[in-house]
Amino acid sequence: MDASIIETALGLASTAVSVTGKAASTAEAIKKLFASDKAADAEEAIKLVNILAAELTAANLMKVNLSKALKDLSVELRIEDQFEKDKARYELFTTSQGDIVFKLRADAAGGQPEHFICPACLNKDRLIIFIQGTGDHKRCQVNQNHLYTFGNTPIRSSASENPYY
Ligand SMILES: [Zn+2]
Repeated sequence: MDASIIETALGLASTAVSVTGKAASTAEAIKKLFASDKAADAEEAIKLVNILAAELTAANLMKVNLSKALKDLSVELRIEDQFEKDKARYELFTTSQGDIVFKLRADAAGGQPEHFICPACLNKDRLIIFIQGTGDHKRCQVNQNHLYTFGNTPIRSSASENPYY
């Protein structure tokens, strides 16, 4: 998973907490100002009320940002969870030519036909991409350079046997 999504959410959460904390202490200062026996200093009160208003606006803004970040994080976690579940359906498989790919586990097939997925895409991009082809060589569906050798059928040398070769 993209760690920056967690960092963003946690950063916003701690900022929201500190902004809210500041607003709470400003509110406390205003309360004290009016609780004292002597007449409240109006100028000081106006200043504190303005500060409190600004802090509450900032806190609200942080809350909106935090809410969005948490939603993003939740989506990311769900995608991650689904990926891990999908990945668990495959096991390592070595072809007769020594190439390592992932193969659908028989006990997790759930009615799907036997197939292989690209280990390069799985490990690098966390994507489940089919490997397809009918001959000795099979390719990844998204990257033509991800080529896997499954068999070793001797190549016919006589052109007359296969004019298209
Ligand atoms: Zn691939």
